Amino acid sequence: MSFANVTTIRRLNSEEMDRFAAVRATAYRIAPEIADALYSLRPMYAEGLNTWAVDAKGRVYISFEGWAGTWTVNQRAFVLIHEVWHWLRRHPQRTKAVYTEHPEWVGQVWMKATDMEINDDIARIPDADLPEGCVYPQTDGLPEELVAEEYARLLTEKQEEEASEDGDQDGEGSPSDGDQDGNGGSGADGQGQGQPGNGSGESGHDHGAGSLGPCADVPDSAQDQADSLDGGISEGLRDHIEKAVAREIKNRAEKSIGRMTGSMRDWAMERLAPPKVDWRRKMRVSVHGQIIAVKGHARDSYSQPNRRHQDSSFIIPGRRATDPNVIVGIDKSGSMLGGDLEIAVSEATGVLRSRGVKKIRVMDIDVMVGTVSTQRGRKLGALDNVGGGTDMRVAYKAIYEMNPRQRPTNFILLTDGYTPWPDEADRVPGVQYLVGIICGEAVYEKLAEPVPAWITPVHIPRGDDE
Ligand SMILES: [Zn+2]
Repeated sequence: MSFANVTTIRRLNSEEMDRFAAVRATAYRIAPEIADALYSLRPMYAEGLNTWAVDAKGRVYISFEGWAGTWTVNQRAFVLIHEVWHWLRRHPQRTKAVYTEHPEWVGQVWMKATDMEINDDIARIPDADLPEGCVYPQTDGLPEELVAEEYARLLTEKQEEEASEDGDQDGEGSPSDGDQDGNGGSGADGQGQGQPGNGSGESGHDHGAGSLGPCADVPDSAQDQADSLDGGISEGLRDHIEKAVAREIKNRAEKSIGRMTGSMRDWAMERLAPPKVDWRRKMRVSVHGQIIAVKGHARDSYSQPNRRHQDSSFIIPGRRATDPNVIVGIDKSGSMLGGDLEIAVSEATGVLRSRGVKKIRVMDIDVMVGTVSTQRGRKLGALDNVGGGTDMRVAYKAIYEMNPRQRPTNFILLTDGYTPWPDEADRVPGVQYLVGIICGEAVYEKLAEPVPAWITPVHIPRGDDE
């Protein structure tokens, strides 16, 4: 299913809202543990969608037509629970990451895999009633309670095995092929583009290998339309909602109320654990957001040249201007533990590569406070021992003073956070700044607090911060 035939995205009219409210109330009776999420999602009506879908900002795109028009209220309630879990498990965000790392999963493999991650839990609900055609791990003879990435790997292996065993079959085995090549390489904004091929080919497959769950990948164009109606749920609020649901699941599991499956409990424990487990994803999301911002800014700059920065290389027509080019700055001060730093550097560059960033430069910053201050004619050697004493402002200055051709679109600093921060005057408009602060849980907030608003902080826990 896809957004290929969606004509309009709009708010629900009052009749549709009533119908949706009835579905939601039914879903609540079936799965009260997800109430906080259920009642937070923002319903949008997608004309021509004929199925339901959800995006990263918690907008649930619904339709009462086509296939979705055949569902009973009870089935819609199960589909809504299914969408809530796509959102809670952050499938829309993971889709973006996965599609750059694993182009071979684009489309059906990944959509199936995410449905499998959810549907084995939903199937355990007594009288589970998802519409016919939904996929479960057992649909493909796979074990339950795995995550989507594992299912996708297994599904691909299985496909390859089958392809090598009998190469003929129905010739439909990898529906993404035909379409993906058409737009995958163009540098277009990514996500969801692999889908239209499925939309046209799916009608003949209600069962077996060709069947898809009740979901569509939400393309950026649809999300843009939705943005103009409802900005959706912010990351901060989402984290809050996720934690509330996670606590509810944990409580129910402890008191043996309801049927919390192992993978639901795992999900809850992960959400309730300190952010340690999550920083890679957070960094991924931040970096991705920054890269999107770079692209947006490049477009803005092209249409509205910035008087203050009228160097010719800043405004390059065409796609080239949108290619992110990243400098990763590394705090080499004595206070930085080698192991943690190494991990952070390799994680950061890995995240960037997985986002398709090809231009990555690394900048070592080992100017001690003493050295910098000496240039101002003062000796501050003693300060070297205060929290390791590095002045990362030199890095921001260096970026500012760079030849515009050398300047990055994104500057990511990895530091222990014990540094003074630059003034607004050292900010280069158009450059996206992110800082990964490698420190213990207890001090992160204090260290992140003085970071200027134009630099996005991400907490990177120390390896020994168990
Ligand atoms: Zn789904």
